[in-house]
Amino acid sequence: MKKFYVMTLFPEMLEAVLGSSIIGRALKNGLVEFDFINIRDFAFNKHRKTDLYPYGGGGGMIMTPEPIYNAWSDICQKAGKRPLTVYMSPQGRVFNQGTAKELLEYDDIAILCGHYEGVDQRIIDEIVDMEISIGDFVLTGGEIPAMAVIDAVTRMIPGVLSEESSYEEESHFSGLLEYPQYTRPEVFMGRKVPDVLLSGHHANILKWKREQSLLNTKRKRPDLLEKAGLSPADIDFLKNNEKDKPD
Ligand code: SAM
Repeated sequence: MKKFYVMTLFPEMLEAVLGSSIIGRALKNGLVEFDFINIRDFAFNKHRKTDLYPYGGGGGMIMTPEPIYNAWSDICQKAGKRPLTVYMSPQGRVFNQGTAKELLEYDDIAILCGHYEGVDQRIIDEIVDMEISIGDFVLTGGEIPAMAVIDAVTRMIPGVLSEESSYEEESHFSGLLEYPQYTRPEVFMGRKVPDVLLSGHHANILKWKREQSLLNTKRKRPDLLEKAGLSPADIDFLKNNEKDKPD
């Protein structure tokens, strides 16, 4: 079973979000396990301080290395091994579905959430295997990025999503964006569900989905097409639909 150990100063943030919805159900069903570790519990100094002013000046506080190291050592002991250790950081490689698939391969993942101005560099050098960013912007802390990563990985664990809602068809898994989706009513504000989806003709529906995925990607994220491993038929289809209007 996959287990995430999250080192944070604000475990309540993760408890609130990851206990709900599909991820909360996966937790209840024993498909994933979370251990939210309060770094403060491992600060053994007089005032249980976890952050101090930076050497060399500069604004803000820096999380000190010792409590993080103590928390991480405790994780290693509980896991019985050194888990893959990730630091959520705006300086890391930008997270995508490929990274989520990579993380799916590990049973034990420890995630360090920074706060304030970040963490002492020496703890990164000592324990971190991978720095992951969720985009080129700066957030207050690593908790929201950690939840994004945990959600993206957990929903790919077999059994987490119901059989019919397959993540393989979703945007980014195959390198393309997903096709447009419709549900009832058949007509909404004069806009009708495409006839093919009501036809019951499985092969035509599959063909339509593939073509719409290609067109959607071409319109919204043409940069993805290059790396999507398109077949000759896909390339022909896109060439023949070059005049397709953008949204
Ligand atoms: N001073 C740091 C810098 O300039 O690189 C930014 C610190 S940020 C205010 C505080 C913490 O939020 C970071 O230690 C990191 O854990 C988290 N964080 C902020 N933005 C992030 C992002 N885009 N992706 C992942 N983590 C992020």
